Amino acid sequence: MTMAAPVVSERRRTRQLMVGSVGVGSGFPVSVQSMTTTVTADVNATLQQIAELTAAGCDIVRVACPSQDDADALSAIATKSQIPVVADIHFQPKYVFAAIEAGCAAVRVNPGNIKRFDDKVREIAAAARDHGTPIRIGVNAGSLDPRLMAKYGRATPEALAESALWEASLFAEHDFHDLKISVKHNDPVVMVRAYEILAERCDYPLHLGVTEAGPAFQGTIKSAVAFGALLRQGIGDTIRVSLSAPPVEEVKVGHQILQSLNLRPRKLEIVSCPSCGRAQVDVYTLAEQVTAGLEGMEVPLRVAVMGCVVNGPGEAREADLGVASGNGKGQIFVKGQVIKTVPEHQIVETLIEEAMRLADEVSQS
Ligand code: SF4
Repeated sequence: MTMAAPVVSERRRTRQLMVGSVGVGSGFPVSVQSMTTTVTADVNATLQQIAELTAAGCDIVRVACPSQDDADALSAIATKSQIPVVADIHFQPKYVFAAIEAGCAAVRVNPGNIKRFDDKVREIAAAARDHGTPIRIGVNAGSLDPRLMAKYGRATPEALAESALWEASLFAEHDFHDLKISVKHNDPVVMVRAYEILAERCDYPLHLGVTEAGPAFQGTIKSAVAFGALLRQGIGDTIRVSLSAPPVEEVKVGHQILQSLNLRPRKLEIVSCPSCGRAQVDVYTLAEQVTAGLEGMEVPLRVAVMGCVVNGPGEAREADLGVASGNGKGQIFVKGQVIKTVPEHQIVETLIEEAMRLADEVSQS
């Protein structure tokens, strides 16, 4: 019997909204977002990158819109993309309206740098309501509303939250509540506190992000730590891992974070030991070769790659498939049973063969 995966926390109860076909808020899975790095006006390149992100499992994609040429391209991109497209608007309110008219699934506005944003809220709310377009209020530490900067002196958690809640209240005055909020900061500690404040003070869905998180290694850790701290409290409805790396990497990391918290079904999971003085095989190479050989596997599969007999048989038995190595040989386990013992040089190919066979069984069942 398959046991239900333990949940990390009950989700915070939120309003719900639809970003195109993707439901956002409590009651819907936490979704993974990313952002294209192409010039949006280059429709083909942008659609090509969106297709790559879609294949990697991206749920919602955001595109920048810094010029009229980009705004003109939104309609074609929104129509042809297989996943909902969010237009990202800074500085120019006219592009908010263009994005809504173009049929984007949502529009992200940065109230800190859109000219006279507060004066435009009534018109934006009316246009968004007419088209059924949700708005994300995206506050960012680097472009915090000057009024909040003057009040707090820097982008504190309170300043970030207050900026977002102020803008949300302006939309609420026009009875517009199809809002999602983000308050990004590059410091995970500040960011976590800002989202906690928001979670206490409103019931809008929240989009999590550590902004300018850095290159892949640092950005992955910052995002995983911050998202883990928040998701542990049930806070967070969509996530974006910002990395100075190709956006497909952001999506992979996002999925891995959600899978680690059992917020997404686990797919391929390699349980490999760190190796130590008892190791009787090269665990690093073995784990890398097995991971590479099984890349892209879509069925849930837990594969244990263990260096010796201390924990090897135990972990290998618990996994769908595993190897406990020692004395130049590998004991291959499938569903808890030793099915064969192979020489070390055949461990990788045997594991991959058995994994493929198990995957076929799962797909046919
Ligand atoms: S399984 Fe064996 S080799 Fe791997 S870390 Fe544990 S004791 Fe060391």
